[in-house]
Amino acid sequence: MPGTVWFVGAGPGDPELLTVKGRDLIARAGAILFAGSLVNEAATRWAPAGCAIADSKDMTLQQMGRWLVAQAQQHETVVRLQTGDPALYGTLIEVVQALDAAGVPLAVVPGVSSAMASAAAAVESFTLPEVTQSVIFTRVEGRTPMPPGESLAELARHRCTLCIFLSITLLHKVEHGLREAGWPEDAPVLVVHKASWPGEERIVRGTLHDIKQRCRDAGIVSQAMIIASPTLGARDWPELAKSKLYDATFSHRFRRASLVPGEPS
Ligand code: SAH
Repeated sequence: MPGTVWFVGAGPGDPELLTVKGRDLIARAGAILFAGSLVNEAATRWAPAGCAIADSKDMTLQQMGRWLVAQAQQHETVVRLQTGDPALYGTLIEVVQALDAAGVPLAVVPGVSSAMASAAAAVESFTLPEVTQSVIFTRVEGRTPMPPGESLAELARHRCTLCIFLSITLLHKVEHGLREAGWPEDAPVLVVHKASWPGEERIVRGTLHDIKQRCRDAGIVSQAMIIASPTLGARDWPELAKSKLYDATFSHRFRRASLVPGEPS
């Protein structure tokens, strides 16, 4: 019986943002394949002595599949460490299919996505009552084509929060999409470079009008999350629409509204 291959979300960069489950799997892994270009190598710091550790940076998908299958023949626990969460832009299914074909059991452990780490870094909320209640994870078209209906201009028409991955070198396309969807020139845009990486995280705030220049001035050309959202900067708003769930006049399943507004129920 082959061992199990665990696809583990390594989190956005700070090794402490690995889950306890991910860390425990690493600690008993016979082999670890990590995404060298993105995953902080420190994530492998809990690996046991003698663990086979390889960097997938120069491997094709086929080679990755073969390496994992071969390791699963020898070890009970094999870990494929991926940046952020494995379900986002992570070639998960391509490698899973290779393991399925070889009859190797597998499981996925979620991780903290860089989208969430970027919101945390900047103390922002993706949702606010009466502002937006939806988040779109997307990218702009580079070498990977966007499916019909998913151009940034189309998605941005929703005026919800947009977390734009893999697009920092294509900021001109991001700007174009937002403008086409009617976002104003002073719409706030946030860029977080290396969110959560100890000592390396950088936060750039700007507007649709100047974010490209600000990123250029800061020299940010890789590993960055672009966030466009009507919620950005809400920390400084004098008036915040209160969530209806906490409004004393609003009844819901767990709490009956008080008859006198403002009194605890
Ligand atoms: N699965 C990953 C995303 C992989 S795609 C996740 O859930 O985060 C790689 C893209 O993720 C990068 O181009 C960048 O847009 C973003 N990214 C990854 N790590 C990041 C970090 N620490 N800070 C900001 N953006 C990051």
